Amino acid sequence: MLVNMNEVLVPAKRNRYAVGLFNAVNLELARGIIAAAESTRSPVIMGTAEVLLPYGPLEEVSYYLIPMAKKANVPVVVHLDHGLTYDTCIEALKLGFSSVMYDCSTDSYEENVRKVKEMADIAHSYGATIEGELGHVGDNEGSAEGSSHLDDPSKYFTDPKLAKDFVDKTGVDALAIAVGNAHGAYKLPPKLDFERIRTIASTVDVPLVLHGGSGLTDDDFKQAIKEGISKVNIFTDINVAAVEAEFKKFHSMDKGLIDLIPAAVEAVKLETAKKMKLFSSDGKADANFTFSGSAQGLSLDELTKLVAKEVAKYINK
Ligand SMILES: [Zn+2]
Repeated sequence: MLVNMNEVLVPAKRNRYAVGLFNAVNLELARGIIAAAESTRSPVIMGTAEVLLPYGPLEEVSYYLIPMAKKANVPVVVHLDHGLTYDTCIEALKLGFSSVMYDCSTDSYEENVRKVKEMADIAHSYGATIEGELGHVGDNEGSAEGSSHLDDPSKYFTDPKLAKDFVDKTGVDALAIAVGNAHGAYKLPPKLDFERIRTIASTVDVPLVLHGGSGLTDDDFKQAIKEGISKVNIFTDINVAAVEAEFKKFHSMDKGLIDLIPAAVEAVKLETAKKMKLFSSDGKADANFTFSGSAQGLSLDELTKLVAKEVAKYINK
């Protein structure tokens, strides 16, 4: 079923696990990701990013992502990762993406607040959720996701004091933080600032997002989630897993492209399922029932109506 980010991240934050975002720039990736989610009974976030649009235009990607999400028997968020322009975010919302990230992290703090707040209001009017970024997550050399190489990434770490102000002023549903993580494949083992994660998690109410997850150790993930990360972005690992499987198959294929497709889907499924288990989102697909508003203080009659409304939403999906 197609859901927005709150529906999978609020329970994740409450119960200290994380939901992965896996980018799906083609059908093999999307099929592998959904298969992994369904087989592990995990909620999942799938999507694409503005820098990945040359590999699959937003509209074309929406043709399969959104129907596949609706049809899946687990909660699936269709998310635009790192929307860099107003127009791309709006296009995603119009196409039916249930979530967008508007990345204004290279703007001044004031501009970041102003632009993200404007987009948050628009996204919410679509019933969609929005992620913002404070501080700046740079890129490892050769990353498919960008070319923002930082000489001293620690200068761009998220300031915990500003994080609360940013969340309050913008109304974002999730916050991407910079804590020693970077996009793409790491040349040297990254060193995450776990204390900073813990401090930010204790200061802001919204779920925190760790970008640049490919290449972190299992212990890094576990510790980061324990300290308060509720969403982890993975692309490089599934991108590489797909092509390695195709390369292996290439030597023994006898028909052509159709030999490579199932090999890629299976490899993506295995790699994605591995991450879901690591993030402990497996088995959480059926426990993801949340109220959009607070149910506290409601009379039995009001509560019954609210439950009926929520159930209707799921039936209609
Ligand atoms: Zn990112």
